[in-house]
Amino acid sequence: MSSYEAVIGLEVHAQLLTKSKLFCTAAVDTQSEDMNSHVDVVSAGLPGALPLLNEKAVELAIRAGLACHCDIQQVSRFERKHYFYADLPKGYQITQLSEPICSGGYIQIGQGSKTKRVKLDRIQLEEDAGQLFHIAKSTLVNLNRAGTALIEVVSSPDMSSPVEAKEYLKRLHSLLIHAGVTDGNLEAGNFRCDANVSVRPVGDKELGTRAEVKNVNSFRNVELAIEYEISRQIAKIEGGGVVVQETRGWDAASQSTFSMRLKEDADDYRYFPDPDLPHLKISDEMLKQIKAQMPESPDDKGDRLRDDWGLSDYDTDQLITNRHAFQMVEFLLEKNIEAKTAASWVLTDLQGELKGRDERLGESTRDYKSLAQVLAKIIQLVEVGKVSRMVGKSILSKFLDDNSLDPDAYVLDAGLEQVSDSAELSTWVEEALTENPSQLLELRQGKEKIFAFFVGQVMKKSRGKANPSLVSKILKEKLENK
Ligand code: ADP
Ligand code: MG
Repeated sequence: MSSYEAVIGLEVHAQLLTKSKLFCTAAVDTQSEDMNSHVDVVSAGLPGALPLLNEKAVELAIRAGLACHCDIQQVSRFERKHYFYADLPKGYQITQLSEPICSGGYIQIGQGSKTKRVKLDRIQLEEDAGQLFHIAKSTLVNLNRAGTALIEVVSSPDMSSPVEAKEYLKRLHSLLIHAGVTDGNLEAGNFRCDANVSVRPVGDKELGTRAEVKNVNSFRNVELAIEYEISRQIAKIEGGGVVVQETRGWDAASQSTFSMRLKEDADDYRYFPDPDLPHLKISDEMLKQIKAQMPESPDDKGDRLRDDWGLSDYDTDQLITNRHAFQMVEFLLEKNIEAKTAASWVLTDLQGELKGRDERLGESTRDYKSLAQVLAKIIQLVEVGKVSRMVGKSILSKFLDDNSLDPDAYVLDAGLEQVSDSAELSTWVEEALTENPSQLLELRQGKEKIFAFFVGQVMKKSRGKANPSLVSKILKEKLENK
């Protein structure tokens, strides 16, 4: 059996944060429950209606390009891509093919020294189609989404594993949100991914035939769909078959892909320049202005977090891909909490607690302002030694369940103040040592790990209130003197 390598290229559609659609003044409200409430003559595709380009969409596409290190093309143009489907009343989609607004660029994935730049092919501006709802034997058409502004970010076939693809997608997602280009809402379909997958024998220069998996709606599913595709294609080839170029769907329920249709080639779409739209020209002035308004890039931010804040690669990576966590840490820094301490509370303790409640930071209706304030308070209580870290963590947990809790009052009422009184601590340490003779023996035989066990025993006895560093100190002294 020969071994194979996978080749993956992703196409991502992101809905731009414009108020109106790409070529008309109809408002963007793709979540509206009122079907066809945001449609005008242009987005309904009525004959003779003329498109007028939305300048904000152009600005956002440029911002996307700058965020992804692309070359911004100061002259680009729009083309018509023809196909017949009920969600596309004009019979063609206005998109860009031969002269997109951005070309080249890359997305950096991996951490610290182990980074890779996944090359981009282009970013193009295009309009979205409408939506179809199939009910019993009829189909309903909702054109609210028709004509909304999208960018399509097309990567080169430059990834070689499902994990890389997932990382690329997450990074792109956070880059675009960070640059204010899209809200990135995956559930709402505002950030969608098509995964192109092929395999080839290791060492082959030529690309294998690809299948394109459409409409995968979560990072995890993209990873799973690609994994599935790779195995399917290898099995097919090993079984003497050939992979056909086709469009496949992802079935989340059975976690597998299924064939939808044979893939069209560009020729089938009869692309040609849209005669209603002149070349899109971007002035030096406009480009300069947009560049000046770009926020700090996550790559630069990453360097700053590592170099100035002293964070690990892992923490840095988490913070630049999770803007809510980052904002929380920034807030804590303003309260003079040290970066490493802040990052550890937010990324480990807070995220852990939220995870236990099936929540993600920033993605529920919590009042994050007061959460940040309470977290700052708790960290300060721990830092000044008023409560142990363990108790601090339990206060956080209590607050997540009851946001009327006031940490100071709670510590007082529940008698949770940290015990730093050496007499009291000594008694607990003594107890712990006499109650666990076999562990004590192991410790004496050199099993250093057991030390933490005894600290843990004392913490338990004190219901988390003992000052752990004092406990360690006393424990060490006792061991030396025994
Ligand atoms: P289309 O728009 O018809 O889907 P493109 O040539 O623009 O075709 O390619 C779309 C995506 O497919 C790109 O992201 C590209 O990287 C990827 N791709 C192209 N060929 C392959 C291949 N053989 N294996 C995996 N991905 C591929
Ligand atoms: Mg495609």
